[in-house]
Amino acid sequence: MLMTLEYSHQLDQEDSLKRFREEFYLKPNSIYMDGNSLGLLSKRAERTLLESLNDWKEHGIDGWTNGKHPWFFLSEKLGEMIAPLVGAAANEVIVTGSTTVNLHQLVATFYKPEGTRTKILADELTFPSDIYALQSQLRMHGFDPDTHLIRVKSRDGRFLEEEDIIEAMTDEIALIILPTVLYRSGQILDMKRLTAEANRRGILIGFDGCHSIGAIPHSFSEWGVDFAYWCNYKHLNGGPGSVGGLYVNSKHFGTAPGLAGWFGSKKEKQFDMEHSLTPADSAGAYQIGTPHVLSLAPLLGALEIFAEAGIENIRAKSLNINQYLMDLINHDLHDFGFTIGNPIDDIRRGGHVSLEHKEAARICKALKENGVIPDFRAPNIIRLAPVALYTSYTEVWEVVQILKKIMTEKQYEKFKNEREVVA
Ligand SMILES: *Cc1c(COP(=O)(O)O)cnc(C)c1O
Repeated sequence: MLMTLEYSHQLDQEDSLKRFREEFYLKPNSIYMDGNSLGLLSKRAERTLLESLNDWKEHGIDGWTNGKHPWFFLSEKLGEMIAPLVGAAANEVIVTGSTTVNLHQLVATFYKPEGTRTKILADELTFPSDIYALQSQLRMHGFDPDTHLIRVKSRDGRFLEEEDIIEAMTDEIALIILPTVLYRSGQILDMKRLTAEANRRGILIGFDGCHSIGAIPHSFSEWGVDFAYWCNYKHLNGGPGSVGGLYVNSKHFGTAPGLAGWFGSKKEKQFDMEHSLTPADSAGAYQIGTPHVLSLAPLLGALEIFAEAGIENIRAKSLNINQYLMDLINHDLHDFGFTIGNPIDDIRRGGHVSLEHKEAARICKALKENGVIPDFRAPNIIRLAPVALYTSYTEVWEVVQILKKIMTEKQYEKFKNEREVVA
């Protein structure tokens, strides 16, 4: 009974978030399972983007202060809207830059090597861009990344153990950068525990929240996290290249930005055009230049939906629908050589299922040919993300049936087992 199509319909009926599905542009005959890489366009995001274009049309330069969404205050306004999603005060969050740029800014600001405390602690499963940024920051300080970037090892290639990370928090470490949720395996790190351990040792700690923002609740301020940064185009549906976000704990307000620019000014001072910067006494201080307004605008609409749906409800459905996917995989696909590579416990798993298979690259191509959009992470991972706001249980059921057909008929054999340019 529980594995039937009828049961998936029943789950959709009972879904308290089902009304949000019709707010998104979903393509007929296509099942989108990639909202963890690029969230879909909602009608509200489209509306706020068009309103901002219209502000330009109607107001020209005066769009900065007039119009429907005055551009001069958009980054702050969006920070205020995101703050509840990360567990922060409104002025601790700003929407600016991109993930990688914000990491550069935060490391330039908070990495202060002193005496024998000179190293940065990260992990070997971290997203490459973060590693490149940390390596280049170390080089700018005259350190060799081979000796000064410590990467905690994974015991199994999938997960990190908090004990191993804590053990690596030695008195040589000046700064710790970790993901909130690992991009491949979807593991959630115990941010509260890691932060407490870092705080106790006097080491600053920052998190990359790309894979958790909009999927799981956070309590950055309560936990004492020093800073965090993330992109807004994945679970938050801000659009391709959407402006990113950063969080700075209010205890650090007043710390001069490592990479200064005029948009970090106190708002009332910015147009005084003085040659000495008066930074904002908020996370706004870590902005650099003019924001990409048209890449901010869709977030206004996208974030309204999160406020209405509630992040706790989103998390509850996400856990449930991902569990449903795993149950169906275990039930229908056990003969085909798949391994579930994400944590099974609710408290340790994020917003996607990480399905491992040695033919993963070409199974993904066969999925696409069958109208299912997954993504592939080399060498062997198919990521499937049923998204709380727009994926239905019926779609999840269909995806598993399609996968079963692909495997039974060996449909993947007609493709090469190689990744595409954008996987
Ligand atoms: C998506 C992602 C990024 C992307 O960084 P950009 O600067 O937005 O290109 C960085 N880190 C992680 C963990 C990601 O998942």
